[in-house]
Amino acid sequence: MNSRVGFGYDVHRLDQAAIGLRDLVLGGVVFDGFAPVVANSDGDVVVHAVIDAILGGACMGDIGEWFAEDSDEYKGIDSLVLLKKIVTEVQAKGYRIINVDVTVVAQEPKLKDKKSDIRLKLSELLTADVNVKATSPERVGSLGNKEAIACFALANLSKA
Ligand SMILES: [Zn+2]
Repeated sequence: MNSRVGFGYDVHRLDQAAIGLRDLVLGGVVFDGFAPVVANSDGDVVVHAVIDAILGGACMGDIGEWFAEDSDEYKGIDSLVLLKKIVTEVQAKGYRIINVDVTVVAQEPKLKDKKSDIRLKLSELLTADVNVKATSPERVGSLGNKEAIACFALANLSKA
């Protein structure tokens, strides 16, 4: 069995003026009352980082090559739809996703209560083990100032 690893990273600007107007979505889970991101899609940094990690493991490019950032086709789209497409594509090339490990870097929201929701949502979609970690940027820099939110992800794939 051929084991492969892929890495993904994503960052999105937060729109503090849009609290209550749009939802903040992380790993397909809605966080009420927090600043949403500025993005063409729903701006789900967790799902975007996971997509890049999976594409990395399969040597199939990056998210921007698959879904053009400025395309009307993806305006406001649920990023889980994009993830589903990528899972189908990598499976068609003979890859199986073994596990995915995610680290969200956010001053807020605290993910504590919803980490298991994200894990469940992603593991069902990927049919793989998913771990979700969260860390605080300790009020340092743009992440700590709540100007942005970031996510790192690793994906472990196998090819028969
Ligand atoms: Zn993104």
